[in-house]
Amino acid sequence: MLQSKLFTKTKREAPKDEMSKNAELLTRGGFVYKEMAGVYSYLPLGYRVLTKINNIIREGMDAIGGQELFLSALQDKNLWEQTNRWSDDIVDIWFKTKLKNNSEAGLGFTHEEPLTRIMKDHISSYKDLPIFVYQIQTKFRNEIRARSGLIRGREFLMKDLYSFCKDKKEQEKFYEKAKNAYTKIFERLGLGDKTYITFASGGSFSKYSHEFQTEMPDGEDEIYLCSGCKKVAVNKDIWEGQKKCPECGNSSYTEKKSVEVGNIFNLGTKFSESIGLFYKDKNGEQRPVVMGSYGIGPGRVMGTIVETFCDEKGIIWPESVAPFSVHLLIIGDDKKTKENANNLYKELEKKGIEVLYDERDVSAGQKFADSDLIGIPNRVVVSEKTVKENKFEFKKRNEDKSVLLDRDELFKKLR
Ligand code: ATP
Ligand code: MG
Repeated sequence: MLQSKLFTKTKREAPKDEMSKNAELLTRGGFVYKEMAGVYSYLPLGYRVLTKINNIIREGMDAIGGQELFLSALQDKNLWEQTNRWSDDIVDIWFKTKLKNNSEAGLGFTHEEPLTRIMKDHISSYKDLPIFVYQIQTKFRNEIRARSGLIRGREFLMKDLYSFCKDKKEQEKFYEKAKNAYTKIFERLGLGDKTYITFASGGSFSKYSHEFQTEMPDGEDEIYLCSGCKKVAVNKDIWEGQKKCPECGNSSYTEKKSVEVGNIFNLGTKFSESIGLFYKDKNGEQRPVVMGSYGIGPGRVMGTIVETFCDEKGIIWPESVAPFSVHLLIIGDDKKTKENANNLYKELEKKGIEVLYDERDVSAGQKFADSDLIGIPNRVVVSEKTVKENKFEFKKRNEDKSVLLDRDELFKKLR
């Protein structure tokens, strides 16, 4: 893509009303636009990143048998009354609205209820089970605080998968699969080293549910990272209750600030029993379907990646989610330099390497500053000097020094 065609502009100054690093950098880079507190629109650069995050999550869910669907945002009051989750006294984050006929509808903050009802049309026998379905869809929550940019939105994307199983055993087997899939997803997203499987309370038949918590200095959560097994953490409630690691029994830990990027839950038969989702087992007996739910917030993940990978100049995207792989900068406007840069651009495009080509008529200083802010992982500079030496100047965003490479060496690096 030609940068002169990109309609978004970068900003030098931090927005005055943003307190979080992620919102500041994403706004300055032209990735997102703040509509109001906790509500962001994704601009082309931001939408490219979001799409990559979604696709990594999607591949992980498809690999464990997930079928993708897309549920409605508007929710039926009658249905939510069946599970006692319509009342504002019980769920205090609902956005609700009135229809023309004066009846009420809600904007979905999660989707256990509607999906359980849909499944009543499709599940009747043990032969129909198990079923795993997921969506990547907008949720609405009237969160009290929305000061963390993409990390806590009032309108935000969620990947939510729901499992429908015959019994506890089948459910637990899938739960383990989902846990492994999540571990792989966060690795691919670049957060593997800082993300811990965290024991949390809740879950219907097991003692624990699990959160995936990413270490982050400005995070709202606190985890106790076990000094014994290192990959496992315990959330505050559990630690205060039992004072040792549920995985290895160790009792020493380090306390860390963190953000919950995902979670997995055994739901048991709570929803299936209240909404009436039953199946006939092998002996012809009616049984409630056993359920689980598994969430990841792609927008929160994007905010967490930015906070994790940045410096004073801007964002440093991991290759897997970067809006482009290469940022090509032309410095100078003589004929030879232009020819050389244009040819490289065409060759990169032809090879399917995603490249943003800064051929704008602005100063070198601005090009370098914008490049650091936007944070594309590989930067290539073509200038009079590089052309003279028949080389290209190459620098990784997370390294300090650039190197001069010939064409073959450059393509080796970019492969
Ligand atoms: P939190 O405790 O942080 O509010 P939660 O327990 O409410 O999270 P779930 O309802 O299970 O989270 O949602 C599943 C996932 O959706 C979370 O793990 C998180 O990644 C994401 N998520 C939840 N709330 C928000 C929000 N307000 N903005 C952005 N992402 C969110
Ligand atoms: Mg919440």
